[in-house]
Amino acid sequence: TELFLPERRNSIGFDLRDLPTLDRIEMARTPFATYQWQSAPLLAGEAAPEAPQPVANPALPGDAPGTVACASAQDVETALSLAQPWDAPAEERAATLNRAADLYERQFGEIFALLSREAGKSLPDAVAELREAVDFLRYYSAHIPDAAPTGLFTCISPWNFPLAIFTGQIAAALATGNAVLAKPAEQTPLIAHRAVQLLHEAGVPRTALQLLPGFGNVGAALTSDPRVGGVAFTGSTETALKIRAAMADNLRPGAPLIAETGGLNAMIVDSTALPEQAVQAIVESAFQSAGQRCSALRCLYVQEDIADDLLTMLKGAMEVLRLGDPWQLTTDVGPVIDLEALTDITNHIDRARAEGRVLKELPVPQGGTFVSPTLIKIDSITDLEKEIFGPVLHVARFRAGDLDRVIDEINTTGYGLTFGLQTRIDDRVQHVTERVHAGNIYVNRNQIGAIVGSQPFGGEGLSGTGPKAGGPNYLPRFAAADRQEVTA
Ligand code: GLU
Repeated sequence: TELFLPERRNSIGFDLRDLPTLDRIEMARTPFATYQWQSAPLLAGEAAPEAPQPVANPALPGDAPGTVACASAQDVETALSLAQPWDAPAEERAATLNRAADLYERQFGEIFALLSREAGKSLPDAVAELREAVDFLRYYSAHIPDAAPTGLFTCISPWNFPLAIFTGQIAAALATGNAVLAKPAEQTPLIAHRAVQLLHEAGVPRTALQLLPGFGNVGAALTSDPRVGGVAFTGSTETALKIRAAMADNLRPGAPLIAETGGLNAMIVDSTALPEQAVQAIVESAFQSAGQRCSALRCLYVQEDIADDLLTMLKGAMEVLRLGDPWQLTTDVGPVIDLEALTDITNHIDRARAEGRVLKELPVPQGGTFVSPTLIKIDSITDLEKEIFGPVLHVARFRAGDLDRVIDEINTTGYGLTFGLQTRIDDRVQHVTERVHAGNIYVNRNQIGAIVGSQPFGGEGLSGTGPKAGGPNYLPRFAAADRQEVTA
């Protein structure tokens, strides 16, 4: 295999079916069950942040896992003026990032606790996320391109992968020798702070990596300053468009924007699909991580001939999902991230219920921002006005002769992130996958959880700019930042 594959050592993670492993995790995270973290700007100079605010646990309103002091305008200026590209040789940068990967792995108990209490992640989700973060560090370290212009990158990351995507963006920019200003999502500053501490501990210079927790104003300041050479962003399509406009007005022409945004992801299940396999793939794709992945399945197209049977099985599979505090090992579906998300998703479900289109929902626990995994009937994916970022699956039926119409409808959304197909007809695999516009296409399996190095992840159209994260084309984009000299 060495002859054909680039060197790649993905993290082995944790086998949660193994009881001694579960005990080890339990022991490692217990000290952090009530721990109070603090997040604040981590700058190369002195910070003058805003007053600390509590950070929420989306599952337990009474449990604030810590506080965050947001970056002030002065902190943004300090960070911009002290940033220095990381001019160490590539081997040294790689060794440092590999050391950071080791530190992340060693700190698994604390990281799982943070992912649960700050981001509402179930243990399987937390395990997958730590693995992905570590994989990004090691994969990018192993694929540093030859010397290239380096400069200053702003990295703006989302709350749904507050460790993996946060780390992936930073690792890519640092591996290529850039300085990084990292702005984590406002909902998840604690884990970002811990990650940057570990990266500094591994040896990343403070001038090369600075953390600026805060809201949209901080992100806006960091994407509209001419000293910034490029931006990596993962989040909504709407914010990406604003960033693109701010960059066009203020940054040098051609400054790279690497954006991963939303999706309206579909799966087609035809009458030859294996029903058990399809149902498992549907449940995982739509409801794992409470549907809060941009890769998640939003619209299922099922062929009329098997629709009744398949939906009966799907409802049965939903029936046994357990909603609740993600810290509990029995929990399958945790909370959505915050009250705003809860309101938005709930309004969407309420409208569908009023129209008699809700096919299945479950009782919801009290307390946190929980949304039931919900099945909603629609006629076409084009009925959906926007991405609903939660555990809501829309289902449409189609007749055998309508396959090409369905493909057209899916392409009409303008998004193109993930797509799933369940069929046992080989020709159909080719026919459909050649026509559907999507960055990541999965056949006869789930459509979430892309693996670094083997399944580079990213979309087209409204879903992002490319290149795909965790793939060979990602780093070269970061090697074109070119810090602009500012003349007074
Ligand atoms: N890479 C993740 C996956 O394949 C999704 C990333 C995202 O939600 O932004 O599930």
